Amino acid sequence: MPDTKIVVISGAGISAESGLATFRDSGGLWEGYNIEDVASPQGWQENPRKVLEFYNLRRKKAAEVQPNEAHKALADLEDDFEVVIVTQNVDDLHERAGSTDVIHLHGELRKARSVKDEALVTDIGSDPIHLGDLAEDGSQLRPHVVWFGEMVPMIEFGAKEVSEADILIVVGTSLVVYPAAGLIEYTKPNIPKYIIDPAEPQLFNLDGWVHYKEKAGSGVKKLIKKLKKEHS
Ligand code: NAD
Repeated sequence: MPDTKIVVISGAGISAESGLATFRDSGGLWEGYNIEDVASPQGWQENPRKVLEFYNLRRKKAAEVQPNEAHKALADLEDDFEVVIVTQNVDDLHERAGSTDVIHLHGELRKARSVKDEALVTDIGSDPIHLGDLAEDGSQLRPHVVWFGEMVPMIEFGAKEVSEADILIVVGTSLVVYPAAGLIEYTKPNIPKYIIDPAEPQLFNLDGWVHYKEKAGSGVKKLIKKLKKEHS
């Protein structure tokens, strides 16, 4: 059984039941902010104070909420399978639930980095970043998150994991944000593929996919029960 590798691609929907809003489900605004204003290099150039305020609020909120049943069930899955989580989320709810192998494609709220050197990353916990807070190289700190239009350096690590999966689970992501959406193309042929989302998947081709049309909490638990039974 430890020979079976499960790769989970997760998105904002898995954290919705913890109380963290997805932005696509709230009319194009992310907690009341226009996404272009707060999650793009141009938004940062135009109003860095607003961008910092937005991520300071997201960081504070993420620290206040708890992992939900879906995060916990995926962490428990490590008892029976090799599990790697490839998440688009910037919260740390997978880690706080106990998952030990998590790749953050779009960065992490609890980290900051130099505006000049993307390798100069520092842990900030749930503290805010202010204008004037400097990295070791003397330049302004910014959130360690990937904004629209920026490179996604972790994508190749995610793709490698997906290419090694014996079972793929996609949960709480609309799979419309590239390059994350392209990850599903890297699977070996004919592996079991599951998608858990209360909305209809926006995949071109649903052949070979099993859709659990429900929220992450109930859907993940149901699927994991089935997988454990099949592989015991
Ligand atoms: P997304 O594109 O991943 O879409 C959210 C998906 O979750 C939708 O398909 C929706 O139908 C589904 N969903 C909604 N409620 C659900 C539930 N209870 N259970 C399961 N699925 C559910 O995510 P997005 O909101 O469009 O965000 C895109 C990017 O924005 C992310 O990749 C991330 O970088 C950032 N973001 C992160 C967080 C976070 O870290 N928690 C939250 C919002 C946005």
